[in-house]
Amino acid sequence: MEHPRVGIGWDVHPLVDGRPFVLVGVVLDAARGPSGHSDGDPLAHAIIDALLGAAGMGDIGLLFPDDDPRWKGAGGVDLLLRTTRALADAGWRPLQVDAVVVCDRPKLAPFRDSVRAALARALGLPESAVNVKGKRTEGLGGLANAAGVACHAVAMVERQATSGGRS
Ligand code: MG
Repeated sequence: MEHPRVGIGWDVHPLVDGRPFVLVGVVLDAARGPSGHSDGDPLAHAIIDALLGAAGMGDIGLLFPDDDPRWKGAGGVDLLLRTTRALADAGWRPLQVDAVVVCDRPKLAPFRDSVRAALARALGLPESAVNVKGKRTEGLGGLANAAGVACHAVAMVERQATSGGRS
């Protein structure tokens, strides 16, 4: 039996006026939101990179190139679902995800449970296997004063018990 594998992901987006602030499909109550070719969901993007890293399958740009019009405005949940399908095709399934959202505004706390539940649904995992934490910048660095949002994620995957991929 192969050991579970871990991967790391990171993403950053500038915050701009006139964009919704969406994390894994959950719209936060915010004055500004992440810009981007897709819906700019930095948490979904970081987790996708962590999952692909764990499976040794490259990165988000390989699966969903940002110069491909198919992914213009693509939702983070949709991309997560496509990623877990690609993992399943290669014989992997997600086991666990943990993530940090670094952002001054809005506060994550009021939305954390909703984001966690959305993430668990998207990954087909129990909520106990997914976790999301919010951190502020304390006024330091390029993300300070709500200029941007960065997300860090780690993911663990394991070989699927049933067939459908290499074993
Ligand atoms: Mg991104």
